[in-house]
Amino acid sequence: MKAAVLTKVGCIEIMEHEIPQISDDEVLVHVEYVGVCGSDLHFFAEGGIGAAKIQEPRILGHEACGRVEKVGKNVTDLKEGDNVVLDPGLSCGKCHYCRTGRYNLCTYALKWFLGNPWTDGAFREYMAYPADRTYKLPDSIPKIRAALIEPYCVALHAVERSAAGYGQNAVVLGAGCIGLMTLMALKAHGINEIIVVDVIESRLAKAVELGASHIINAAKENPVEKLKELTEDIGVDLVFETSGSIQAQAQTVEYLKKGGTITFVGFSSGQLVNYDISTLMRKEANIATVFRFANQHKKAIEQLADNPIELEKIMPQIYKLDNIQQAIEENIRDKDKVIKCVIEI
Ligand SMILES: [Zn+2]
Ligand SMILES: [Zn+2]
Repeated sequence: MKAAVLTKVGCIEIMEHEIPQISDDEVLVHVEYVGVCGSDLHFFAEGGIGAAKIQEPRILGHEACGRVEKVGKNVTDLKEGDNVVLDPGLSCGKCHYCRTGRYNLCTYALKWFLGNPWTDGAFREYMAYPADRTYKLPDSIPKIRAALIEPYCVALHAVERSAAGYGQNAVVLGAGCIGLMTLMALKAHGINEIIVVDVIESRLAKAVELGASHIINAAKENPVEKLKELTEDIGVDLVFETSGSIQAQAQTVEYLKKGGTITFVGFSSGQLVNYDISTLMRKEANIATVFRFANQHKKAIEQLADNPIELEKIMPQIYKLDNIQQAIEENIRDKDKVIKCVIEI
């Protein structure tokens, strides 16, 4: 089978690998589409993210869907031919966090996640994958939408962590893939007044298409002042920071209504943020954070099947596996044109 291997920083080579053998608890998945995540871009361009450094040739990619080709002896709820999506959050299953259902916080979470410095990912034709992290897709979900379920799960987790409720209003900082997914997840949760802030005009236009009630281009106007104007000086109930910019992180408290909740979703590259705790306290604000997600696939699949949310409207650019190097380079270079790349395996 073909596999796309990151052999050194900035270089992915297509190689021939053996089709993997499955254990009794695994399924063999014929991979069909895999989204390219921001983390893949960092691994490609810089060889790592913080402490996670690529040491040896690795297959990246963790946003995968495909078809079951074979099932292990102990697998009862999946069969050959099922369309599936993979939860990349592998975990030890034994530590305190795994045993209390928060497997995204597994003591060994760094090492177990699919497509990172320690575990080969999904940019390849076949994978042996644990059946308990493989979710069957209904026919009503097209494959290209299924390839976007993983980032949608991040957004669902963020909305859940924020405890968003009907009738509240929100601002989403950053209109990249996760920001736009957060916008869609908020709408699915009955939040309709959503302001989106970014500095790229084409991404803001996409936010409007997906239902943002207002947009603010932070390169052209002061986003805090503009938001105050839009909310009669009160601010919003919910702030979602998805850009990872430390400037945007520091500003989050200024957008917030008293009693509101700030949810940090985008990672910054480890720099410390100068944060105004006094204002945060005077507003009696809540802070929530998100590390990947846990237990969201089932909810996402049900939501997307019953009430079709067309995730593919973010217009992913589709590239063949052979062109993965070009896909990632263009994704890094053309931020105003490419919101998301998906690799067709
Ligand atoms: Zn991802
Ligand atoms: Zn664990």
